[in-house]
Amino acid sequence: MKVLVVNCGSSSLKYQVLDMVNENLLAKGLVERIGIEGSVITHEKIGIDKVVNEIPMETHKDAIENVIKAVTDKDHGVVESMDEIGAVGHRVVHAGERYSESVLITDKVMQVLNECVELAPLHNPPNLIGIEACKQLMPKTPMVAVFDTAFHQTMPAESYIYALPYEYYKKYGIRRYGFHGTSHKYVAERAAYMMNVNLDDLKIITCHLGNGASVSAIKRGVCIDTSMGFTPLEGLVMGTRSGDIDPAIVTYIRQKEGLAQGVANEILNKKSGVLGISGVSSDFRDLEKAAEEGNERALLAIKVFAHKVRFYIGAYIAEMNGVDAVVFTAGVGENDIAMRDIICNDLGNLGIKLDLVKNKVRGKEMEISRDDSKVKIFLIPTNEELMIARDTYKIVNK
Ligand code: ADP
Repeated sequence: MKVLVVNCGSSSLKYQVLDMVNENLLAKGLVERIGIEGSVITHEKIGIDKVVNEIPMETHKDAIENVIKAVTDKDHGVVESMDEIGAVGHRVVHAGERYSESVLITDKVMQVLNECVELAPLHNPPNLIGIEACKQLMPKTPMVAVFDTAFHQTMPAESYIYALPYEYYKKYGIRRYGFHGTSHKYVAERAAYMMNVNLDDLKIITCHLGNGASVSAIKRGVCIDTSMGFTPLEGLVMGTRSGDIDPAIVTYIRQKEGLAQGVANEILNKKSGVLGISGVSSDFRDLEKAAEEGNERALLAIKVFAHKVRFYIGAYIAEMNGVDAVVFTAGVGENDIAMRDIICNDLGNLGIKLDLVKNKVRGKEMEISRDDSKVKIFLIPTNEELMIARDTYKIVNK
């Protein structure tokens, strides 16, 4: 069976077509600037060619129509008709406490997901619009929703309850949820496979370090803690997000600067993180270049980012009473050699020893710890789309 994976954002849409018989990636693509002038679709037939087409796309339905055209195109396509696509897997960011696993999308599920919009007002609406568009254009094809929050639903209450009046949890669902779950799960499974040990027998810390970044503690295959919380703002320092700060700062700055409603949120999400500290960029390539040229704030941003990752690694070792493997993934985790080095530096007493030669690698699945490192360190490129396709295939074949 072939599966279409759709990851729909507010103005962009990523897609892949996979053949689930052998989990082969057949095609992938990206629609950008949906509803904005200059909409463009980039479609790649894997190993064959890549085409870029500027086509006006007002709505997500227009975008999906063009994805269907690209996928069925007689030159660049990978299927003759959409009837060959057995199912569609959709990435959905937030399922609250409602789903701890992926689900077949029914009217009831759509209703529940609409109720979850309140929890993720930026992310869930485009996800749902993408599902609706696909349902209209492929009415007979089963659709599955795969959630960023699902993997973290195993966290014990002491990990997810905030020390706020308990009624806010009951009334508004204010608790820690965690995100990037599909990625944390995928890399943890790969690490166990690479160690040739059952996931149930391992304690793993997974560091998903991209523009958004989170760390998870995975004990015996289940997540027991993760650094993101009620929203993807909590935890690590990120590209433009503050991560953990003293909540009193928000009220203080709001008063000092006379900020209007919503501005504080914008500052914490878009103007903070390594961009905020450095004033240079949210991209670590720019930061490292600037730091090399003597920009002290860029260097400080790098150090603060690494400090927070180390902080969480230490915390999760304590929570799990040890760790067998630390995994690095996502843009920074997979590509930033210097950052992995700073994070792992001087952790020998915790049994974590990075091999500086093996570490000189980007985007390749491999072990990068020294032979005498008690804890294995892995670089594992994430593959959320494959996880979505796997869940979709499994659920549709049930
Ligand atoms: P997103 O959260 O948007 O999916 P990614 O996981 O794609 O983010 O990560 C993007 C980030 O990865 C970039 O902003 C950049 O900081 C970092 N990155 C990518 N390539 C490199 C590299 N070669 N060296 C250092 N950092 C890199």
